[in-house]
Amino acid sequence: MVEKQNIPSFDLKRNYARVKDEIKEAVDKVLDSQYFILGPEVEALEREIAGYLGVDKTVACASGTDALVLAMMSLDLEEGDEVITTPFTFFATASCITRSGAKPVFADVDPVTYNISPEEILSHITPRTKAVLPVHLFGQMARLEEITPRLAANNIMLVEDCAQAIGAHRMIGGKIAKAGSVGDVGCFSFFPTKNLGCYGDGGMVTIPRDAERAARIKSLRVHGEGKTYFHEEVGINSRLDALQAAILRVRLRHLEEWTEERRMAAERYMLLFGEKGLLDMVTPPAEEAGNRHVYHQYVVRAKKRDDLQKFLAERGITTRVYYPLPLHLQRCFSEFGYKKGDLPVSEMLADEVLALPMYPELRAEEQERVVKEIATFYRGHN
Ligand SMILES: *Cc1c(COP(=O)(O)O)cnc(C)c1O
Repeated sequence: MVEKQNIPSFDLKRNYARVKDEIKEAVDKVLDSQYFILGPEVEALEREIAGYLGVDKTVACASGTDALVLAMMSLDLEEGDEVITTPFTFFATASCITRSGAKPVFADVDPVTYNISPEEILSHITPRTKAVLPVHLFGQMARLEEITPRLAANNIMLVEDCAQAIGAHRMIGGKIAKAGSVGDVGCFSFFPTKNLGCYGDGGMVTIPRDAERAARIKSLRVHGEGKTYFHEEVGINSRLDALQAAILRVRLRHLEEWTEERRMAAERYMLLFGEKGLLDMVTPPAEEAGNRHVYHQYVVRAKKRDDLQKFLAERGITTRVYYPLPLHLQRCFSEFGYKKGDLPVSEMLADEVLALPMYPELRAEEQERVVKEIATFYRGHN
């Protein structure tokens, strides 16, 4: 019977079942209060996440995309300014740059971690570089300490896209540094499938060490208001709902446990690939020394990726491709003049990566079946 069951790429229902009572109680409390936009629940969440991440200030907002937009607005970018980022990421990482009026400069990624390469960042810095926007992709932090001295020396801002990396950390200078605490600004998403998701859209900006910038971002999220109805500048409307904040506060209490379950599932995949002799065909994700990977996604590189994905789908196993077309080749960015071959590692990864089912509630038997089917596929394709 177990053989017949589908294995989805994620399963929010299993997660909800674990926290249903706590969530309902928290939601009820907000409904009784009839306080829906920002307010005490949101402020409590902002404090709790600041504490969890070890940052000075946080500002909750309406989505991860808006967190990036607010971060960019706070940098006062002008036409001709350049922001260095990765082409191997979700679209919002680059669209926030073009919306700010600046130009995205794409730097290629590391084939092992899939993260933007520090060497590539450094080699793309010009006098027009105003900011660097690395992504901690799939839940593992990029090697920020290799770029921070040069950025500081040149007054270049560092904005971390932490949408996939809440709770990830990296040993920097002998200390544990969490994602979102290293740069000038960090951007988080609470999209339902992220490691800390709400039940709708939500996001947060972290401002680790700059109270003035934090106050500005707080104002930008409410139309640039200073005193109510008095506007210092033109901002946007990007507030977090109290209901979402209440849900997030419940889920934050479980985040560490769920992260450890993801890490255990990742270890189990790794062992199973080894046992089945698949390591020539499938390259599992690598956790760099000093890193805590939070496995938002478990992304392997696979030979004959498209055929494998189809084979697994026919057997009820859903996998995903993050990301099939690097951003430098997206039609909407054609004005920047990139062509195929410009960023070869990102382009190669786009053809090889496959995200296997990964969530805290994924069962050992399900992982065994995923790996067994992968082994069956490659036996037929040698
Ligand atoms: C999810 C995500 C975003 C955007 O977050 P939303 O909440 O969906 O707007 C930005 N960057 C990365 C890397 C993401 O994964």
